[in-house]
Amino acid sequence: MAFVQLNAQHIVPDVIKEEAQTALSHYPELKDTPISFKIIKNIRQSTMRAQPKFNSLFKGRKKRAYVILISEKIKISDTVFLTKDVPKDIMIGWLGHELGHVMDYRDRSTLNLIWFGLKYSFSGSYIKEAERAADTFAVAHGMHDYILKTKHFILDHAEIEEKYKERIRRYYLSPEEIMTLVKEHETSEESQ
Ligand SMILES: [Zn+2]
Repeated sequence: MAFVQLNAQHIVPDVIKEEAQTALSHYPELKDTPISFKIIKNIRQSTMRAQPKFNSLFKGRKKRAYVILISEKIKISDTVFLTKDVPKDIMIGWLGHELGHVMDYRDRSTLNLIWFGLKYSFSGSYIKEAERAADTFAVAHGMHDYILKTKHFILDHAEIEEKYKERIRRYYLSPEEIMTLVKEHETSEESQ
């Protein structure tokens, strides 16, 4: 697979180069954070996952590197979406959510991250907290249009498996909650 280097810190597969560039442009604070995007055959239970690189975990928070794993097939139902065929804005929304996880991880100590990983594996309420935090970061970074499109893509696609939709409804921010966040954000900007 061909990769491109977006800047000194960001490495992306060629096929999603523009989408990653757009998503990253919403997170200027991540400019110096090493992040590599990788498309892999299969990811358990999801379509994408952001995680710290294991060998960077013990270098301290400032030097920590992250990887965003993307499933080669968006494994939703019998209809198989190849990642490279997912509409651009949907992919941008998806990546924006994953970068929201990176924002969340960035503030955590190594011990906290390890603890986080364990809790995420065992506790539904913790998954919810983490997924909603990632969505909230993305909305706060002006990505609400993309995030909403991604959600509607999943929830409104009849052929997407109900189990997956249920997961999205249970753990992530709903479209209504996103709109509320956007309005709150606008109000607070007006009052400044
Ligand atoms: Zn997530």
